[in-house]
Amino acid sequence: MPNPLRTALVTGASRGIGRGIAIQLARAGFGVAINYAGNQAAATECQKLCEKASPKNSGARFDIFQADISIPADRRRMVAKVTRAFPRLDLLVNNAGVAPSVRADILDAGEESFDRLIAINVKGPYFLTQAIANHWIGILKKEKPGSFRPQIVTISSISAYTASVNRGDYCVSKAALSMLTPLYAARLAEYGIHAFEIRPGVIATDMTGPVKEKYDRLIAGGLTPIPRWGTPEDVGRAVSAIAENRFPFSTGEVINVDGGFHMRRL
Ligand code: NAP
Repeated sequence: MPNPLRTALVTGASRGIGRGIAIQLARAGFGVAINYAGNQAAATECQKLCEKASPKNSGARFDIFQADISIPADRRRMVAKVTRAFPRLDLLVNNAGVAPSVRADILDAGEESFDRLIAINVKGPYFLTQAIANHWIGILKKEKPGSFRPQIVTISSISAYTASVNRGDYCVSKAALSMLTPLYAARLAEYGIHAFEIRPGVIATDMTGPVKEKYDRLIAGGLTPIPRWGTPEDVGRAVSAIAENRFPFSTGEVINVDGGFHMRRL
């Protein structure tokens, strides 16, 4: 039976993987704070899809919140608004992220793209998690231990450990992001707050649109043991399993949602 009181903040939920996560959470009875950077029309569309996916009479609400997670003032404004609208947030999903605007050989690539990717893919989720964790600790200090068990899910990538020499900035940002989960998992376990990393493989979204033919060929050639593109729903289902507390004695865990890409094969 879905619990109508449970809520999640999903960053970058207007499109792609974030939208898939928001919809799966809505299906599980969660209310969702839908963050987006600039595409309000896509965020509103996600809001409507969540309302449709939500069980009848669940009482769940879906609101959209514009904020560029790389900008400190935007993060502060979003956290203030989201925690006012959803005072007992149960789940933070750090999903928002960007690829380089132009793929460039690491021997030529410039610092501007590197700084942009570190700001959005690493600094944003790192300090957003800090702000939400402190909000939760404030609540937990006033409540009975164990009465409230919030969780953090961070969406990294197979690029955290796979070298793509034409987007080194992206790989470096995702490798750095992978440290967020053990750090917060170790620091927050005493409060009953658990943290997970989900590592998606090749997922069909706007981000991978420009390289569709290349990945079509690679998948047909055996890139992944499960021979298909991943979908935002695949990632959303994994997040939903964590959100529904199916892993109560785990924290700091990495879950690969990649069609088996991570396995070494001979
Ligand atoms: P996408 O289709 O390009 O969607 C990106 C989402 O992030 C949009 O909702 C966008 O909002 C939001 N966003 C971008 N910059 C932001 C910022 N500064 N502040 C707040 N929100 C921001 O990308 P995706 O493929 O769904 O990727 C989602 C996450 O999964 C990323 O972290 C990506 O690195 C990771 N990932 C993707 C794949 C893949 O194959 N697609 C694989 C592994 C990991 P607007 O709509 O407002 O622009």
